[in-house]
Amino acid sequence: MRLTLRLLCLSTLIFIAGCQSLAPVHAPTSASRKIPLLLISIDGFRADYLDRGYTPTLSMLADHGVHSVGMQPSYPTLTFPNHYTLVTGRYPDHHGVVDNSMLVPDLGKFKLSNREAVADGRWWDQAEPIWVSADRQGLKTATMYWPGSEASIHGYRPDHWRKYAEEEVSSNGRVDQILQWLDLPSPERPRFMTLYFDAVDTAGHFDGPGSAKTNEAIAEVDAALAHLVAGLRERGLFDRINIIVVADHGMADTPANQRIFLDDLIPQNDAMIVSTGAIAGIIPSPGHESDVESVLLRTRDHMQCWKKSEIPAHLHYGSNERVPPIICAADTGWLMTRNAKTALVQGKPILGEHGFDNGDVAMRALFLAHGPAFREHVVLPVFANVDVYPLMTHLLGIQAQPNDGRLAEIEDALVPAEL
Ligand code: AMP
Ligand code: ZN
Ligand code: ZN
Repeated sequence: MRLTLRLLCLSTLIFIAGCQSLAPVHAPTSASRKIPLLLISIDGFRADYLDRGYTPTLSMLADHGVHSVGMQPSYPTLTFPNHYTLVTGRYPDHHGVVDNSMLVPDLGKFKLSNREAVADGRWWDQAEPIWVSADRQGLKTATMYWPGSEASIHGYRPDHWRKYAEEEVSSNGRVDQILQWLDLPSPERPRFMTLYFDAVDTAGHFDGPGSAKTNEAIAEVDAALAHLVAGLRERGLFDRINIIVVADHGMADTPANQRIFLDDLIPQNDAMIVSTGAIAGIIPSPGHESDVESVLLRTRDHMQCWKKSEIPAHLHYGSNERVPPIICAADTGWLMTRNAKTALVQGKPILGEHGFDNGDVAMRALFLAHGPAFREHVVLPVFANVDVYPLMTHLLGIQAQPNDGRLAEIEDALVPAEL
């Protein structure tokens, strides 16, 4: 292990086990340094949605560029952990955003709907996102939403950023903001940008991945991307920008009768339930550890629980101090909720969910890339989403932070001049 990496591991108090698995820093390269890079996330866009016939623009980009048969998300297959993995190249265990909901002694509660927590850099600073590294290395950056982008991390923010959902911004409106940033005079024009769409995930949850509503949302986001492509063509930029389109995870059907009620298993005072859904994080109350463990750790139908130190190695999860002492995982298609009442959101059952084992095909996410750096008509095999980060630092020509990804896994995506 290089001395600098060892020092970084010690000084940031990241876990030794994690640091040992981190890949070496990738050296910057010289090719196409001035080309902007736009990272687009379509939340919850399962890899096979691309084959449904609702995505003329995405299919065009995939055909004239590179796409994967499916990108494997990191565990847990939730929105915040995976968005931060995409921009840091680290497993959630190694970047610290280990769940959408967290509860830790030093920082208190983290929830997506808690605006203050989401914007508090202390939740994010176990790793450094690409926009911070780019900024520190003299590149301009802009985020049209991305988990973590509202926080000051290591003293840096994107040069331009927006508060999530402060006001309703339509999918087309988000694209317009990207185009406006590209219209800035060259010294101020961002080299790295993000763009985020939530509509497909929302429809997948409320109506299920196979529903007409989900197909409508897919078509709506595709239309916004058609608007982006038209705007880029008007500016003569379409072939002079590298675009990577990803999803954070897929979506599985969760029929309303496939529920596990945790209140039936553990008396309320015996444990704090930090998160529910496809993955549940549980902190036994002091003095109740062995009761809770004896109930949860035995073989159960449709779910499996582990002590955090015994989570299977392929999930790369459990070494971070923020992971609760007991983690339960539901079988794909099943959900853990406290009781029948909390199983409903806005009075309706959740018909689609993610958070399941990241090896499950239903969790596979979209990956496609288009632009001067990318080859045409290339289909990549499944790869892990930690590999997107070294691809992006390579394209930007910036020094990467220590990470879990490997550029070699996706370098077939690049034209030879980019290697
Ligand atoms: P999940 O519960 O994992 O399905 O999370 C998806 C939800 O995360 C979306 O419906 C968004 O509303 C929410 N979300 C996405 N980005 C942000 C953000 N930057 N800040 C707060 N919430 C967000
Ligand atoms: Zn998501
Ligand atoms: Zn979701």
